[in-house]
Amino acid sequence: IKKIGVLTSGGDAPGMNAAIRAVVRTAQYHDVEVIGIRKGYNGLINGEIKEMRSKDVSNVMNLGGTILHTARCPEMMTEEGVSKAAAIYKILGLDALVVIGGDGSYRGMAELAKRGVNCIGIPATIDLDMNCTEYTIGFDTAVNTGMDALNKLRDTSSSHERCSVVEVMGRDAGYIAIWCGMVGGAEDVMFPEEKDKIDSAKVIQQILENRSIGKRHNLIVVAEGVGGTQKLAKDIQEITGIQTRATILGHLQRGGSPTATDRMHASMMGYHAVKAILEGQQNRVVSYNKGRYEVLDLTEALNMEKHLDREIYDVIKVLAI
Ligand code: ATP
Repeated sequence: IKKIGVLTSGGDAPGMNAAIRAVVRTAQYHDVEVIGIRKGYNGLINGEIKEMRSKDVSNVMNLGGTILHTARCPEMMTEEGVSKAAAIYKILGLDALVVIGGDGSYRGMAELAKRGVNCIGIPATIDLDMNCTEYTIGFDTAVNTGMDALNKLRDTSSSHERCSVVEVMGRDAGYIAIWCGMVGGAEDVMFPEEKDKIDSAKVIQQILENRSIGKRHNLIVVAEGVGGTQKLAKDIQEITGIQTRATILGHLQRGGSPTATDRMHASMMGYHAVKAILEGQQNRVVSYNKGRYEVLDLTEALNMEKHLDREIYDVIKVLAI
């Protein structure tokens, strides 16, 4: 193994830089050259590359976003685009391609693998919505940002005796929402996995009950995958007469300096990705399951299943009295 490429793809996630740093330094430690590819798969197709050495990843561990930049790449959804990406990989003389990204990026890897590219994935998305791993880089920072926002909204809601409805990110998954709901002390959480069971009348009933026992403010978390946040706030205000404000955190949750947890996982996963390449493994992904880092087959990883831990929601409801 002489030369590997690294790119970040899909939505950015805090901790991606720590992963890039770990890949570059582990490779250099073993005398392997690293080519940084800019803007995800776009950079591979367009040849936007630069050699990366240890000093190029100095002072990046603490930075949010990704120094390699990231993008969605529609061309990768075409036969022509994938073939071009695979051809450039060969022209560059790469022995492996490390892809730091989410599920979509992993599907791109599977297409490249069919065309002879040796792909190694590192899971990075704030949403935690990857079935092959219990942890994805960026999740902890996003939850902490959400918690911080909930703390601040609690202060102002409490002063004005208001209700706050807060929409958090997470795409079609509710991981960020239930974690934010628990650690932010919300009374209720609406998340997409149980969209069918959502009953806003029940939420409103809970708000009224909590007020009747002396609660002076209310915090409700809504997942992006459920939406309707403005409407819910309007309905609560109209029905209960309690002043209600909707806050949509949006892309705020994607930024910020990564937490210790994200830096730790990113560093370890970056290291394990390069180690797997050095061992001669082909088309693998690094995962974190049951407290351990593991290297899984890419195809198997894409076919795995994972379910949101509903117990967290049940406990939120117990603690919401
Ligand atoms: P996040 O969930 O954090 O946004 P992601 O990696 O899932 O991250 P996507 O936008 O879904 O983000 O995918 C990133 C890129 O991966 C796409 O822009 C596309 O270039 C490539 N990709 C996704 N699906 C496929 C596919 N089926 N075949 C080839 N390439 C794909």
